[in-house]
Amino acid sequence: MKFYNTLTNQTEEFKPIEPGKVKMYVCGPTVYNYIHIGNARPIVVFDILARYFRHKNYVVEYVQNFTDIDDKMINKANEEGKTVREIADRYIEAFLEDTKKLNISADIIRPKATEYIEDMIITIEALIDKGYAYELNGDVLFDVTKYSEYGKLSNQKTDQLEAGARIEVGENKRNPQDFVLWKNKKKGEPFWKAPWGEGRPGWHIECTAMSHKYFGLNFDIHGGGQDLIFPHHENEIAQARCAYGGNFANYWLHNGYIQLDGEKMSKSKGNFFLLRDVLEEFDGNVFRWFLAGTHYRKPINFSKEDMLAAKAALEKINGALLRAKDFIIENNTKYDNILEGSIKEFSEKFDQAMEDDLNTPLAVSLIHEFLREINKFIDNYGKSVIIKEAVAVINDRMANVLGIELKESGLEDLSSSLLDLFIYIRKEARSEKNFKLSDLIRDKLSELGIELKDNKDGTTSYIIK
Ligand SMILES: [Zn+2]
Repeated sequence: MKFYNTLTNQTEEFKPIEPGKVKMYVCGPTVYNYIHIGNARPIVVFDILARYFRHKNYVVEYVQNFTDIDDKMINKANEEGKTVREIADRYIEAFLEDTKKLNISADIIRPKATEYIEDMIITIEALIDKGYAYELNGDVLFDVTKYSEYGKLSNQKTDQLEAGARIEVGENKRNPQDFVLWKNKKKGEPFWKAPWGEGRPGWHIECTAMSHKYFGLNFDIHGGGQDLIFPHHENEIAQARCAYGGNFANYWLHNGYIQLDGEKMSKSKGNFFLLRDVLEEFDGNVFRWFLAGTHYRKPINFSKEDMLAAKAALEKINGALLRAKDFIIENNTKYDNILEGSIKEFSEKFDQAMEDDLNTPLAVSLIHEFLREINKFIDNYGKSVIIKEAVAVINDRMANVLGIELKESGLEDLSSSLLDLFIYIRKEARSEKNFKLSDLIRDKLSELGIELKDNKDGTTSYIIK
């Protein structure tokens, strides 16, 4: 298995610290709002990675934190007149709800930052004691010049950072790049007691302290979006190596952005789609399939057209698998070995693609290709016992590796088509000003739990309660 390691700028063979076991840490959300689809990408990418390891019989220990204390949390709480805890609880629940619809494996360990303040204080104390950090008017800062490898992950030299980056220079900071480990208490903000005074932790220290708590000095994989490489991950490394020694994470994997019209999506710029809005229109499986179609390190442009294409592709796969199931029989035929060879080849190639830095677009195209072969086999030889195995092997890769749940039957497609038909008839009735009929259709559907919503462009969408 090979991965591109941001730390070394090269693709490297994966060697786990303990054979058969993977310890991975992926930075989680700051829970002050619903997540947008850009935040959802690493969630899906690293879920696929964890699933692949499990597929290869690794035991996976996967930790993903919740940032439940920081400036954004405090601002949101003040805006709404709520406590930071209330805001955190609301959006943690929303996050779990949303990501459940994305079939994210449930066995992720999810520590909350506020439950590990003591560990963060211990880490900061170690940094002060060893001379890497200093106190300044109640704040504690990390002195980046004390760590000679600072900038290695993001490929920057400290003096370049000074010249290039727009970093606010605190008044008495020793160096402009020094970053905050602990913030002095401010009026109206939650605070904790620390040896150097009351306050709250900076953002970066939480991941260092929590990954250390779960994994100790060294773990296998640290993941996150590319936007976290600098300063967040750079700072995590500096803190961990200086406070505890050890190597921290061996492999650093970063996924690319989701773009809208070629621009990075971001909450601050206002060009984003919330995951829950997208999931009202599209199934979580469709979103996963859409993401799997592009290599995780590349940017991916989000558009409704691409989502519709992903939906159509999944329906096609589903249809092909359902058709194939009809051709399964219990008896052997003399042609079985033809498909048997293809099954073996598909399985091997699929795994090779995944092991080549998680090449999901290739894996996806292999599924399409293999289905075409199964169809061809059926056209040529008809029913066979071996088709059962061919279907099972695709189902296994779809469900257990790509995390896509396929439908058991075509009934869902049928009911969705019937619903579209009712919507069409209602539209026709409205255009003929037959409002008695159009209202009747709407009301009867509503009784079934299907709410129709008329948009300003005249089309109708529906929400199933
Ligand atoms: Zn982090």
